[in-house]
Amino acid sequence: MKIVILTGAGISAESGVPTFRASDGLWEGHRVEEVATPEGFERNPGLVHDFYNMRRAQLSHVEPNPAHRALARLEEHIGENLTLITQNVDDLHERGGSKRVLHMHGSLLSALCNSCGERFRWLGKMSLTSKCPFCKAIGLERPDIVWFGEMPYYLGEIEAALIDCDVFVSIGTSGMVNPAASFVQIAHNCGAHTIEINPYPTQNAHHFAEQIQGPAGSEVPRWVETVLAKE
Ligand code: NAD
Ligand code: ZN
Repeated sequence: MKIVILTGAGISAESGVPTFRASDGLWEGHRVEEVATPEGFERNPGLVHDFYNMRRAQLSHVEPNPAHRALARLEEHIGENLTLITQNVDDLHERGGSKRVLHMHGSLLSALCNSCGERFRWLGKMSLTSKCPFCKAIGLERPDIVWFGEMPYYLGEIEAALIDCDVFVSIGTSGMVNPAASFVQIAHNCGAHTIEINPYPTQNAHHFAEQIQGPAGSEVPRWVETVLAKE
């Protein structure tokens, strides 16, 4: 059985990483246009660096939760029959034990050089004086995050997995950001059973064949156990 899983900010909520649209539509107190668009970065790169420096520093204060660990356990058992796609920019799937994670919206632990286009691991602070280790340009680095209006990563690989899967599961995502929000329809049209795991109804809910209502920390381990019991 081939399974594709899409995760969003909700899977990391119980680890203490705030979601995006929780109540106020702000991301940690900021308007999305300020900190998650190329125009926002052009307007005020210092503020955008500070914002992602804070998000990156926050990672050392949070731990993966049982949902991240359960998905790693699933990968251990079914290997390449699992495609794990995340919209999250944190590293909690990897720290939970997952080996193959498609970070379609980039990663806090990666930098992108606006001069030479290289992407490289970045663990510390990023600033207007940071130097690219490849082309040596100064001040042209940016967080390797796919901002609104930019093209997500791995779309070819993701589409191939969606077309070929038997089960598609969406966990902890509001379904308001495209193209991720449309993955359920691709999988459904190609014959997959579709499941949504979320404590609250989403605007995408009617596209799913099955709803599991509850927090990821308890519902994902429970669902993984049922899958492994059938293997
Ligand atoms: P979102 O914030 O728009 O939606 C979060 C969803 O999680 C909601 O539907 C909510 O009901 C659900 N949720 C809340 N608590 C949950 C729990 N305990 N278990 C399961 N679900 C729960 O998130 P999104 O759809 O991923 O879109 C936000 C965008 O912002 C992403 O593309 C991402 O790049 C970025 N972002 C990332 C992080 C992160 O890396 N952890 C955090 C915030 C935002
Ligand atoms: Zn460079």
